[in-house]
Amino acid sequence: MPGMTEQPRLLEGLDPEQRQAVVAPRGPVCVLAGAGTGKTRTITHRIAYLVQRGLVAPQQVLAVTFTARAAGEMRTRLRALGGAGVQAQTFHAAAFRQLRYFWPRVHETQMWQLTDNKFRLVMQAANKLGLSTEREDVRDLAGEIEWAKSSLIGPEQYPAAAAAAGRETPVLPEQLSKAFAAYEQLKNRAQMLDFDDLLLHIAAILDDQPEIAEEFRGRYRSFVVDEYQDVNPLQQRVLDSWVGNRDDLTVVGDANQTIYSFAGASPKWLIGFPRKYPEATVVRLERDYRSTPQVVGLANQVIGAARERPAGTRLKLVGQRPHGPRPDFAEYDDETDEAEAIARKIAQLAKRGVALSEIAVLFRVNAQSEVYEKALSDAEIPYQVRGGERFFARAEVRQAMATLRTAIAHGADEEDLPATVRSVLREVGLTDEPPAGGAARERWESLIALVELAEELTAAEPDAGLARYVAELDARAESQHPPTVEGVTLASLHAAKGLEWDAVFLVGLVEGTLPIMHADTDAAVEEERRLLYVGVTRAREHLYLSWALARAGGRRYRRRSRFLYSLVPDEHPAALPNKVKQRELMSRPKAAKPHCRICNAALTGTMDIKLGRCADCPSDVDEDLLSQLKAWRSERARQLKVPAYVVFTDATLTALAEQRPLDASAMVGISGIGASKLQKFGSDVLALIQGDRRDTR
Ligand code: ATP
Ligand code: MG
Repeated sequence: MPGMTEQPRLLEGLDPEQRQAVVAPRGPVCVLAGAGTGKTRTITHRIAYLVQRGLVAPQQVLAVTFTARAAGEMRTRLRALGGAGVQAQTFHAAAFRQLRYFWPRVHETQMWQLTDNKFRLVMQAANKLGLSTEREDVRDLAGEIEWAKSSLIGPEQYPAAAAAAGRETPVLPEQLSKAFAAYEQLKNRAQMLDFDDLLLHIAAILDDQPEIAEEFRGRYRSFVVDEYQDVNPLQQRVLDSWVGNRDDLTVVGDANQTIYSFAGASPKWLIGFPRKYPEATVVRLERDYRSTPQVVGLANQVIGAARERPAGTRLKLVGQRPHGPRPDFAEYDDETDEAEAIARKIAQLAKRGVALSEIAVLFRVNAQSEVYEKALSDAEIPYQVRGGERFFARAEVRQAMATLRTAIAHGADEEDLPATVRSVLREVGLTDEPPAGGAARERWESLIALVELAEELTAAEPDAGLARYVAELDARAESQHPPTVEGVTLASLHAAKGLEWDAVFLVGLVEGTLPIMHADTDAAVEEERRLLYVGVTRAREHLYLSWALARAGGRRYRRRSRFLYSLVPDEHPAALPNKVKQRELMSRPKAAKPHCRICNAALTGTMDIKLGRCADCPSDVDEDLLSQLKAWRSERARQLKVPAYVVFTDATLTALAEQRPLDASAMVGISGIGASKLQKFGSDVLALIQGDRRDTR
C-alpha cells in the first residue's frame, strides 16, 4: 500500500498525546490545551492522516477557523502534508460558498448581494428613528446589532436579552431594538445580506430543507474547528446544522485565549464538549513547543493572575525549547520615543540575523499602528500592516498580476518558473537589488514576495507553469492569503491569534489601552488580560514589553498597565521610576486593586469603588460642582430622552465632584466612565470642572 510507507511521516514529530488525537478513529475529538502546544499542528496532521489512510476523502473534510490568514496557513500546511483538496476556511467564507450554491434552489433567484456598506444602512436606520448619526454612535449601534445577531437575538428579544447579559447599551434598549428592526428592513428591501446573514441563512436552509441537508451531509462528513474557544452562538448553530446528528467533529482550543466574548463568543462549547460527547477522545497538552522557557514563564504568570478561570482550564505550560533571553520591559517618555526605540531594537535584531518577517509589533487598537509605521519608515525598515491581508489590493501587485496574465497570453517561456516570473516582473520595476527604503522599497518587497512564491510552488510542484502559478495567486487573492512579505508585521492582538514570530514587541501597554478604557466590568478586564496572554505567547524567542508615559509630546499622565505590576521584576530599572510616579499619582487612583483615597484601605464594595473611598471616610466633595453637574445631567438626559442615570449615576457624579479630574485620562480613572461616555460627555464635564476651578481661585 503506497500510504503505508509515508504514514510514519505524519506521526513523526508528534508527542504521545498529540499522536493520540491524530490517530483517534473518526468521531468526536477534543484537544484542550494552552498556547503553542501544537493544537493547530495536531489537527492538520489528523486530517492528513485520515486522508492518507483512506478513512476520509479530502473533499469530505471541512476545517474552519476564525481568520482568513489562519485558514490560509492551514491550507498551506495541509498541502505540504498531502491533504490538498481539504477545505480550510473561515466560518463566513464556508457559509458564503454554501449559500451561493444552495440559495437559487431554495429562493429561485440569484443570491442577494453581500452588503458592502453596512455602516450606511445602520446610519439610515438611526436617522429614521431620530438617533444620533455621528460616526462613533453609529459604530456603537452597529456593534450592538452584530452582538445581537451573533447571539441569535432578534430585535424584539433585544431589550430583555441585553439586560440579562448586562450589556452597556449605547442608546435605550427599546431604541436599539427599533434601530435593529429598521436596519433589517432596509437591508431586506435592498436585497442585501450582511456577514451574519450568511450564517443565519445557511443554518435555516439546512434545518428547514431536508433534501438539501441530505445532499450537504453526503458531501461533508468530517468537521474540524480550530480556536473553538471563540465560537459564538450563531457559529455554533451553523456547526450544529452542518454536523446534524452525526459526531465526526474534532475541536481544539484554549479557554484562556477567549478574546471575542465582547462580541458574543463563549468557551462554553469547548469546555462542555466532553460532556456532550461522553465517548469523545479528549486530550490535554502541556508542552509548549513554540516558546523559550523564559517566554513560557511569563505567559504562565500572566494567565496565573487571572481572577477566575473556567473549571478544567488550569493548564500550566512547560517550555520545550532551549533557554533564550529574558523578556525585556521598557518605559518611555512618550509614544514617539517608544516607537523610535523599538525601530532601533528591530534594526539590531535584523543585524543579528532575525528575518524581518519573523518580527511583529502587536498593539491593542489599530490606531496605535501609525506611530510605528512612521518610525519604521524613518528607519527604512520595511513593514506590513495587519498581516498584509490587503496585499492583493496593492497597486504594484495588481499591476504585476495583469502583466503576468499578458505574459501567459503571449506564451512566455516556462522552462524555469521563478526565472520567468522574475523576468516578467522586471517590466513592472523589479530590480536585482532592493532600493534603499520608503515606498520604493515596499513595492520591491511585494514583487520579490511574488518571485518567492513562484520558488515555493516549484518546490512543491516541479511541473507548475506560469498559468498554474497565476491560478495559485488568484486562489490566494480570493481567500486573502498573502505570501510572506519580507517586512515587520504590525498587527492588533486580535489579528495575531494563532500566529507566531521569533521576536514580538507588545507595545503601548498602558492603562486605558490595555485594559482598554471601555473595559469597565471585571469580565471585560479579564478578557483584556487574556489578550495580553495571547500576545505574550506569540513570541518564540525574543519578547519585548513596553509603554510610554505620554502621548506624543503630551503630558506624562499615563500609567503602565495594571497587568504588568507583578510581572516587571522589582530590580528592573523600568519598575523603579514608575513606582515613584505611581506614588505621585496617588490622587488619581485606579489600580488593579482599588484603595481608599482618604485612608488607603483596600476597597471592596461596588459603591466604595465607585466613590474611590470608604463610604464612612470623610467626603471631600465639591458641593457646588456637584449641583452644577446634577443640573447639567438633567439637561442632557432631557435632550437625549433618557433617564438621568443613563447619563451618569449619582455615585459617578459624586466621584467626579470629589476627584475633579482635569483631563480625559483622569476621567476614565473613575469607575462608571468608559470610552463611550467619555466621548459623549467628556468635554462637557471637563468644562464644568475647569470652570469650577477658575471660580474658586
Ligand atoms: P495557539 O494556541 O497559539 O494557536 P497551537 O497550540 O495551535 O497554538 P501550533 O501553532 O500548532 O500551536 O504549534 C506551535 C509551534 O510548535 C509550531 O511552530 C509547531 O510547529 C511547533 N510544534 C508543535 N508540536 C510540536 C512537536 N511535537 N515537536 C516539535 N514542534 C512542535
Ligand atoms: Mg493554533
